[in-house]
Amino acid sequence: MPATALELSTLGHRIRHQRIQHGFTLDELGALVGVAGSQLSLIENGKREPKLSLLQAIATATGVEVADLLSTEPPNQRAALEIELERAQASTVFRRLGVPAVKVTKGMTDETIESILGLHRELERREREAIATPEEARRANTEQRLRMREVNNYLPDIEKLAERQLKAAGHLSGALKHRTVGIMAEQLGFELIYVSDLPHSARSVTDLEHGRIYLPPASIPGGHGLRSMALQAMAHRLLGHKPPTDYAEFLWQRLEINYYAACCLMPETASVGFLEQAKRERNLAVEDFRDAFGVTHEAAAMRMSNLLTEHLGIPLHFLRVDGNGAINRVYENDGLPLPEDVTGSIEGQVACRWFLARSAFEEHNRTTEHYQYTDTPAGSFWCSTQTGTTAEGEFSITVGVPFDDAKWFRGRETQKRAISQCPDESCCRRPDEDLTARWEGRAWPSARVHQQMFSPLPRGAFPGVDAGEVYAFLERHAGR
Ligand SMILES: [Zn+2]
Repeated sequence: MPATALELSTLGHRIRHQRIQHGFTLDELGALVGVAGSQLSLIENGKREPKLSLLQAIATATGVEVADLLSTEPPNQRAALEIELERAQASTVFRRLGVPAVKVTKGMTDETIESILGLHRELERREREAIATPEEARRANTEQRLRMREVNNYLPDIEKLAERQLKAAGHLSGALKHRTVGIMAEQLGFELIYVSDLPHSARSVTDLEHGRIYLPPASIPGGHGLRSMALQAMAHRLLGHKPPTDYAEFLWQRLEINYYAACCLMPETASVGFLEQAKRERNLAVEDFRDAFGVTHEAAAMRMSNLLTEHLGIPLHFLRVDGNGAINRVYENDGLPLPEDVTGSIEGQVACRWFLARSAFEEHNRTTEHYQYTDTPAGSFWCSTQTGTTAEGEFSITVGVPFDDAKWFRGRETQKRAISQCPDESCCRRPDEDLTARWEGRAWPSARVHQQMFSPLPRGAFPGVDAGEVYAFLERHAGR
């Protein structure tokens, strides 16, 4: 039997539709089925749930099946409008406004209801699009990272989906060809079209009606970015994504499409085979994995975080740190001490200065990975870091493991060592005492404004500026 108010409302509309079709008044049909017309009216208005015996009597009197009365389809266009309006007026978004609901009468035209519905649809659209506050965004992001940590950053269903799609498109091994991505799109019923006038806020736009996926033109021919973007656009379709209702859902969809693209570019079977072989040879390296599959260092490092714990039993950390030392992206299940804000968010926090993720920026040779052992309050870790530059500035990509697992990696013999006491403030967050004595009260730097959503909260003597770096800078230049 129907349970929700909306189902009762639809049932009422269907009963009314049948009654009017047969030219019965409420009292006439009531007399035929043995209830008062007023009772029938309550049922038609969705205010009362009819007994099955009464439903059977109504079905017999109007010559239809009970199943037909119980169908969830509105019986006609008018009923569809009324049901949609009831649903909209019952929504939390509308009720929060404190505006009285419109009572639909027989005399109300379809146009009037359409107009009110138009306002409701716009209200809901704006509600969905409301930008999450930075704090909500950080909380949602942290919850997602912890959720992924629970499952070793590994999503088996998407892994299998990607392998099926690749097989169907004839991909066997090695780097995924752009041509194969085109075939994968065709098999989904889409054509990939490259345009230079995409909306600024969109990475891709899919025309569902005409089966077209619009993508920006390739800036780097053969770069994996374009294949990845096309795969991500397809993933929305393959994974049945609906418009996200909140920021957490938006983030989760973004994770899923990124994950799918990564699975296509570095398929599970081939990747695990490659990584297991490298582990046997004690020669694991992000750069080799990257080169074998023709992807960026960042994509290869991220992908290792999906597979290394699940398949090779190695816990690890992944960090993307920008030139300011702020952590942009992070995954960790090896216990590396990382800075957190009050919401538990790591993104936007500044990494320890002694981490290779930061000190690697000072290395002159940037064509290869750098290695380091770092002693922390939670034990010793080995890591490999590669630096790079984009239009937004410098960044470093780090993959690291606990000391005991360094033996599987190339670069384990490095002599480079560092000690980090973070999160203890004395580690690297407090300026040197001598320098403070020399410069305190004699310096006035002007802070750069952080634009990014996860930017750290201003802190310290000069909001947004590291006093220690300022003092050291002044010291270097003071003698000239
Ligand atoms: Zn530190």
